[in-house]
Amino acid sequence: MGVAGDVPPPPKIPGNDGTVFKCPMCKTILPHADVKTFPFCSDRCRLLDLNNWMDGKYTASRPIDPTDNLEELPRTGEPGRK
Ligand SMILES: [Zn+2]
Repeated sequence: MGVAGDVPPPPKIPGNDGTVFKCPMCKTILPHADVKTFPFCSDRCRLLDLNNWMDGKYTASRPIDPTDNLEELPRTGEPGRK
């Protein structure tokens, strides 16, 4: 009794099992996935990525033009014709 060989396993932390996480922006290796700004290493990189989106690089849609959606209704009967 009293053998200190029964060490409990460490708590399960994402990234603690050998998985390496890298910041997609600056490729900094994150110590673990329990980062507030995950998957980015910092707020700076997170904002950088956000700026890329805002830049319109990934924008697929354009602003809606209200005049764009007006369908020309087919005229039934031409006025002034007898
Ligand atoms: Zn980074």
